[in-house]
Amino acid sequence: MSERVTHEAKDLPTEADVVVVGGGILGLATAYHLARMGAGRVLVLEKHYLCSGASGRNGGGVRAQWSSETNIALMKESLAICADFASAMRINVWFRQGGYLFLARSEERARQLEASVALQREHGLPTRLLDAPEVKALVPELDTTGLVTASFNPDDAVVFPWPFVWGYARAAVAEGVGIFPFVEVAEITTDGRRVTGVVTGGGATIRAPLVVNACGAWSPELAAKVDIALPNRPHRHEICSTEPLKPFLGPLVAELATGLYFSQSMRGEIVGGVSNERVPEGLDQGSSLRFLGLYARALTRTMPILGRVKILRQWAGCYDLTPDGNPIVGRVDSLEGFVLLCGFMGHGFMMAPIMSRMTAEHLLKGQHDALFQRWNLRRYETGELLEESMILG
Ligand SMILES: Cc1cc2nc3c(=O)[nH]c(=O)nc-3n(C[C@H](O)[C@H](O)[C@H](O)COP(=O)(O)OP(=O)(O)OC[C@H]3O[C@@H](n4cnc5c(N)ncnc54)[C@H](O)[C@@H]3O)c2cc1C
Repeated sequence: MSERVTHEAKDLPTEADVVVVGGGILGLATAYHLARMGAGRVLVLEKHYLCSGASGRNGGGVRAQWSSETNIALMKESLAICADFASAMRINVWFRQGGYLFLARSEERARQLEASVALQREHGLPTRLLDAPEVKALVPELDTTGLVTASFNPDDAVVFPWPFVWGYARAAVAEGVGIFPFVEVAEITTDGRRVTGVVTGGGATIRAPLVVNACGAWSPELAAKVDIALPNRPHRHEICSTEPLKPFLGPLVAELATGLYFSQSMRGEIVGGVSNERVPEGLDQGSSLRFLGLYARALTRTMPILGRVKILRQWAGCYDLTPDGNPIVGRVDSLEGFVLLCGFMGHGFMMAPIMSRMTAEHLLKGQHDALFQRWNLRRYETGELLEESMILG
């Protein structure tokens, strides 16, 4: 992007209508929609650079294959937004609709996929179950030994995350949003039970009646500043990419049991990751040799011909895990003007296009109450926890 999108801390205003904390995809996209819908002066404060959090470190997978009605319906809409994003935002996001292929090698996982596929089809998705020969026909290089079943939705896709984030940033600025990287929110100011603004790490005070916590894996830290204990926790997730290969792999291949997933980027690299329970506690974004071993074993078992391919890069980011696998969004009962938009696990990138729009519509027009009730922090007090079984990683 050639045009200047961000502002410098010295130009921070002293007042705003909304301060969005966190310049990841959720913060930027929400700021864009808020400004577009007439929220007034909207600021995004980001303590590092745009793309420094999970939004700049993820695999770019976008899928509608889920096990809950809520996620299926939301992701159907999000996929449609993604498909149109390049022309609407005038930026190439390398959207590649090769589908997602989920493999099940146990009866238990097969039943899970079958139930999810039935629900997805009720919602109009073209997902179908495949047996081993059909899987081989789709991806001949896969080892289907022990495969019980697989599910395939040809509409699922992969994007390149960075331009997606930049697209929202540029569009937000065009709507008048002020984006300030390298500005940390150090304090949230309050007057009794209502938010009155923020104080930055550099000591600047910005008065604002609405503060959105879009800090992803850092959201519990921000909430703790106003004595709100969030149940989500950061979990390091590693990922890597290989040397480029001639394009041969259509779908993103995934396995719920091991958390293995891999796809081929438009540049030919195989990009993927795998579950790893043994990672350091907390906000750690380091890389490990252990991950490479886990990934290499899972990958070469699933696609043996990749055994000789060289890994060129590995990196990591933090998933923002919630106890019930569903996000935490909307207003907080104990503090007026404080809004949560976090807990998006390892799938917040794909949810951002739809959730950002719905968040703006909820805050400004009072829409989507049912979703914002369902995913509210309150559920952890009332014990109305939710479920989702198609979680990767
Ligand atoms: C390796 C990996 C692979 C993934 N793969 C996928 C995938 O294929 N598909 C998918 O949908 N999702 C995927 N995800 C998850 C997805 O990346 C996240 O759910 C999503 O990016 C979260 O966006 P966010 O805006 O909430 O958080 P982030 O992008 O993390 O942004 C939060 C920002 O808040 C900033 N911040 C924190 N505290 C403060 C403060 N006090 N003041 C100012 N700024 C602050 C941080 O610096 C950060 O930039 C993956 C994640 C990882 C790590």
